[in-house]
Parts: sequence; C-alpha cells; structure tokens
Amino acid sequence: MDKGVYDVAIIGGGPAGMTAGIYAGRAHLKACILEGLSTGGQMFTTAVIENYPGYATIDGPGLTQAMEEQVRKWDVEILYKHITGLKRLSDSFEIQTLGGEAIHARTVILAAGSKPRKLNVPGEVEFAGRGVSYCATCDGAFFRGKNVAVIGGGDSAVEESLYLTRFVNKVTIIHRRDELRASKHLQERAFAEPKIEFVWDSVDEAIEGQQTVEQLRVKNLKTDTVTNLPVDGVFIYIGMLPNTDFVQGVVELDPWGYVVAGEDTATSEPGIFAAGDIRTKELRQIVTAVADGAVAAMAAERYLGERGL
Ligand code: NAP
Repeated sequence: MDKGVYDVAIIGGGPAGMTAGIYAGRAHLKACILEGLSTGGQMFTTAVIENYPGYATIDGPGLTQAMEEQVRKWDVEILYKHITGLKRLSDSFEIQTLGGEAIHARTVILAAGSKPRKLNVPGEVEFAGRGVSYCATCDGAFFRGKNVAVIGGGDSAVEESLYLTRFVNKVTIIHRRDELRASKHLQERAFAEPKIEFVWDSVDEAIEGQQTVEQLRVKNLKTDTVTNLPVDGVFIYIGMLPNTDFVQGVVELDPWGYVVAGEDTATSEPGIFAAGDIRTKELRQIVTAVADGAVAAMAAERYLGERGL
C-alpha cells in the first residue's frame, strides 16, 4: 500500500470537516483535513452560538477550539493548504494545491463551506477594511460608540446586529423588503432592542467617504427616493456563496453552485462526498454540518471497504 495516499482527504476544516475527521480517525482511516486559513470556517467568526446542543451559549472560537482538540486526539493531520483543483486517477484522487504540491487520497470529502456574498456596489471594494466588513465578530469592536449599518434581513444580519449593539451607538438594518427573513426569535429580540433601527424596502446603492466610510446612498425601492445615511461602518450580510470553484466539472453542481448531494452525502462522482454548507440541503446550521460530517466519513469508509482499498 502506498503510504503517501490518504484513505480520506477532507477539504475544509469547519464543523462538517472536523466532524468527518473525528469519525475517520475513530475508524482508523488515514485522514487529513485540508484547510486554507484556519479551522472553524464561518463558525469561528460567529460571536455567539446558542443553538448547538450541550452549550446554552458558546462563542465561535471556543467551539472551534474544542472541535479541533478532538480532531487532533484522533491523529488526523490538519494541513494548511489552499485547494485549486481535483481530478480522478485510477484508484484515487489527486488534489492540487496553490503551492503546486499534489495530495493523493482514495476518497474525498468536500466540506469547504461558503463565503459571504458581495453587494457589488461602488465603494464596497475601495472601503474593505476601512469601514466595510463581513464579520461583526472580527471588526465590531472597532466601531465602539459609532453608528453602523447592516445590510440584509436574514438570520446572520439580525444576529450580528444584536451582537454589534454591545459596542456601537446605533445599528441601522437596511432590508430590501418590509419583513425580515430571520427566525421569529431573532426578530423579536431585534425589534425590542432600542439601539437597532430599520430602513425597509431599501437597498444600498453606494458606499461613500474620504479615507473611511462616511455615508451610504440608500434607495427606497417603493418610492425610488435616494437618501444619504451617515454611518462609520457597514456590515454586509446578504447570504453566502458556496466554495465550489475547484470542483467545477468534477461533480454535479446545482444552478447556485452548491454540490448536488442528498442526506447520504454522495455526489455525482463515486468516492467524492459532500458535507455541510457546500451541499444542496434544507437547513445550513452547525448541527446539520456536523451530522453531514459523520455521515460522509462513514460513507467513505464503506466505499473503501466495498472496493478493498
Ligand atoms: P440568507 O438567509 O440567505 O439571508 C440573506 C438576506 O440578505 C435576505 O434577507 C435577503 O433578502 C438579503 N439579500 C440577498 N441578496 C441581497 C442583495 N443583493 N441586496 C440586498 N439584500 C439582499 O443568508 P444568511 O442570513 O447569511 O443565512 C445563511 C444560512 O445560515 C441560513 O440558512 C440561516 O438560517 C443560517 N444561519 C442561522 C443562524 C442561526 O440559526 N442562529 C445564524 C446565521 C445564519 P430577502 O429576504 O428579500 O431574500
């Protein structure tokens, strides 16, 4: 047996990938987790998690650290690599990395999650890191006593707005409709929070300022009126895009770019499994990601056993 070939390579070190690692390690598979930046993924940048059983509340970095310690206990390697491509060889897969190094594995679990969707308005790129942010946990404390806007009406926008009220003077949520998408429990908390105001039926058309963000140009979609909203920062939470560029043409993707896979995590390509936010699914949560990770690792073990690999 070629010792250089992993039984399973897990691409992505968020909750899905780390759980797949724990299950693969416990099954005595030779496994690695390939992670571009740091473990935890979106979980790491979440301020407060209050729907992960066992913890009434826990911060994202804390839950990430607990999971990573559990992964390392099972001798699963965590390699910091940015993955650029994937192709099938005869009995294994070759995973290409940014540095040019190739990693070989008999099965692959895609658990690379998703990244924040961009607003694509003037000023967004120019003011990135100078008032434009996609992570309240990372940047919220820079806006102590200031006024900020949050764009979006989903769970992320509302949850992170609530978090921002710890620091800021005022949060203005700008939403393109007149009702939020966020869960009722979060909505109730946001409506009761005196530091949060809402601008309904509106979109941000431009982010403006000199050195840093100073104002947003906000258009009301019902009246077409444009107003300037003075703010020191803007947090953009308008959904996510799956990290699937590196598997285009390798596995079937849905029209939005998610890997097509059911609850069994099997993709269109035998030996490649998809776990967590990267796959087509009803509910993208940490609990559903960890469930996928377990299923995918067990599916990979079965695939190897059935083929005597
Ligand atoms: P999301 O649920 O897709 O919500 C995106 C929000 O942004 C929607 O309100 C949407 O408006 C708005 N939007 C989309 N494109 C826009 C654009 N171009 N301009 C202006 N607004 C735009 O995304 P998310 O909040 O990031 O959540 C992603 C997933 O993670 C969801 O399944 C969510 O439930 C889950 N999540 C759960 C929790 C939790 O359980 N505590 C926390 C965070 C995230 P419309 O409503 O009009 O479509």
